[in-house]
Amino acid sequence: MDLPKLAIASIGGTVSMRAQAASKGVIPTVSGETLMAAVPELTSLAHVNVETLGMLPSASLNFDFLLSVLSWANYQIEQGAVGVVITQGTDTLEESATFFDHLWNHDEPLVLTGAMRSAAQAGADGPANLLDACRVGLADNSRRRGVLVVMNGQIHPAHAVRKTDSMALQAFSSPIVGPAGLLSEGKVHYLRPTLPRNVLPLPQHTTQKVALLQASLSADTLLLENILTLGYDGLVIAGFGAGHLSETWAEAIDDIAKKIPVIIATRCGSGPTARSTYGFKGGEMDLIRRGASMAGFACPRKARILLWLLIGCRRQDDLARYLKEDIRCQQP
Ligand code: GLU
Repeated sequence: MDLPKLAIASIGGTVSMRAQAASKGVIPTVSGETLMAAVPELTSLAHVNVETLGMLPSASLNFDFLLSVLSWANYQIEQGAVGVVITQGTDTLEESATFFDHLWNHDEPLVLTGAMRSAAQAGADGPANLLDACRVGLADNSRRRGVLVVMNGQIHPAHAVRKTDSMALQAFSSPIVGPAGLLSEGKVHYLRPTLPRNVLPLPQHTTQKVALLQASLSADTLLLENILTLGYDGLVIAGFGAGHLSETWAEAIDDIAKKIPVIIATRCGSGPTARSTYGFKGGEMDLIRRGASMAGFACPRKARILLWLLIGCRRQDDLARYLKEDIRCQQP
């Protein structure tokens, strides 16, 4: 039978983890080929090319490695794959999904998945998630949706998805917008039409450093005051509430924002930053006057990815436009 081509890469995470001995914790050791063997149905759905590109816990992934995975995925599409699936750790999956989504320049879907329970645990979710991710990767209605995250029967858009539970099987959600779709009886259903996408060029350089700090009650300004001398090229702050800082942090922003881009996001976990509501010192109106950009709906980590990529392709002057487009994309 003439089956469609699908490419799968494994790069590590719980989905690839086993314990070497009963008393030791799990570590990534399971290859992509072995993962695939746990999902025998796949061979009747697609002609699969599976490769093991890494064996890392997702906390240790980095942007250079993700760029090499992206180049592998681009090549798979050139070779005729109708979709690409990547299995990785869930801890940073929301960040790599955003990273890939800004750079994925194909109609074919790039689907990320993982597992909350390792292969040895009762009720391991890896095989079911992998099968679902492959179904999404093969589905016609997944085209022109960019990068998708498939976990626990749900499909999430890369720009909105967050890991919102540290251990639960239902670990991922897309605050405000909800999942983009779901799988039921092996069928892929979307709840919303496709949205226009704006893809960035590949970064020309990758040594730029973007710091991410979180505002907290009664915090000192030591790190903030040293951001420029430490050589950072950009700064994101997970601010209080609608994107607010203390008076002392607000004062420190003055100098920093004259030299490097500064984004203020919210540390709340859901909801946008404000633009024109609060006028107190450290409120968003004051911070905008001092030269900061407000993240809108982008969470602090996704705002940092965007800024790193914009600096990498020398488009940081367009930051406001990209943050605004993020807001548009978030609207259901
Ligand atoms: N819970 C994480 C996972 O699902 C831990 C390890 C990692 O992110 O790589 O994979």
